[in-house]
Amino acid sequence: MKEKIKKNKERGIITMEKQRLRKNKGITLIALVITIIVLLILAGVSIAMLTGNNGILSQAQNAKKRTDIASEKEAVSLAYTTAYAKNNGEGKVTYSQMQDALDDNGTNAEASGNIIVYFPDSERYYTVKDGVVEGPFEEKPETELSAVEMFENGQNCDKQDGTCTNETHLHIGDYVNYEEPTSGEPCVIGPSQTGVENYQVYSLENNDLNWRVLGIEEENGEKRLKLVADSPVKRTGVRETEEGETITEGVGPYFDIYGAEGYLYAPDAMDAISQIFKNDDAYEARSMNINDINQALGKTTDEQIKEKNFLTMQGFIQYKESYGPFEGQWTPEDWLKQNRPTSIVSGEVSAYAYLIDNGSLPSELSGIATTVENERLRSMLFDNVEPETGKAYWLASRGVYALSGDSYASFGSGVVTSEDGITVAGVGDYAFNSNGYEFGRSGYAAVRPVVILNSDVLIEKIEDQPDSWQ
Ligand SMILES: [Zn+2]
Repeated sequence: MKEKIKKNKERGIITMEKQRLRKNKGITLIALVITIIVLLILAGVSIAMLTGNNGILSQAQNAKKRTDIASEKEAVSLAYTTAYAKNNGEGKVTYSQMQDALDDNGTNAEASGNIIVYFPDSERYYTVKDGVVEGPFEEKPETELSAVEMFENGQNCDKQDGTCTNETHLHIGDYVNYEEPTSGEPCVIGPSQTGVENYQVYSLENNDLNWRVLGIEEENGEKRLKLVADSPVKRTGVRETEEGETITEGVGPYFDIYGAEGYLYAPDAMDAISQIFKNDDAYEARSMNINDINQALGKTTDEQIKEKNFLTMQGFIQYKESYGPFEGQWTPEDWLKQNRPTSIVSGEVSAYAYLIDNGSLPSELSGIATTVENERLRSMLFDNVEPETGKAYWLASRGVYALSGDSYASFGSGVVTSEDGITVAGVGDYAFNSNGYEFGRSGYAAVRPVVILNSDVLIEKIEDQPDSWQ
């Protein structure tokens, strides 16, 4: 019996051992099958997930695209903030400032008018307006044409006479809806700025000018539209004294200047007067100067200026040639010093003037006269410019000139005038002679403002306006 039990026990152990072994084999198989199934499931799922529109691969691609777009938008936004800060937070950010900022930040992107930013690597476009970035766009977004783009559109137009009705064109002489500031302090010019005893005051209330296209001003590769007031700005005779009293003095539209002070300081005063017309869209406001005349007449080199220099016809030394030395005389600066020290006055002639062909010049003068091909430009700048009654205007420029054989030099202002049918534009009106004579002009010519618009400013062409001088 004992034996039997033992055998059973043994058998049991054997059985258990066999079962254990059998069990082990089972686990391995199940694990293998499960593993295979899991692998198959994984593989199946992976393939499904990897491919297709919602697959991992395209999800990853989408995620990368979203990240790229976010970083492009951030780069645009950052560049805008950089450019805005460089402007000291004043005025609009232009596309060339935007380009500089993108370059400075190491962003490979191109900024263009009405600020569009293009990323050549991704071929995506964004717009930024007042700091708000929009996009991306796959095609270059349609923007309204900037003033410069409209002017460029109008360049090759065959209707330069004001009859073109194409709204995307701007031509020289066209009237535009530039809005003068609605409020602002009057500009008060004192005696030390002009050499004249009276204060001369200019205010927005006293003037409602019309604005016309004069051309393009280019600076560091950036183009801006240049406007000119249809007429000079009129002076108000009213001013407030330091004590708060309102007084009237020297009524009349013209800007008076006198002597050495007038020569030295009047151009800056003229620019200051014109600056009352600068609005937020304007890059700069200043007065007409000799460079504007040169540009209008297409005289860009010294040789072109010399060839048409009307002063040489009247016996004056040619532009850029030397005058003097004249001993024991005064420069305008020395003249204004307390003890008026004399010196030897010498230098290079910087004044010159053009005789404008107005169609009615005597034949002996027509050879030296400068013809303005664009009739609208000619009439805009050179018609009705009679001094004392008409729209004669100063140029915020100055220059030195001397008659051949004379023993002194003259320091004078720029002016555009027409007298006895002879229209002259240039530098060389009397102000101061180095031998100590001072000259003044009162009630003679006025100040004519120029406004340079920011490059991406939008502007509309409007119909021709009645003369604001009337
Ligand atoms: Zn046109």
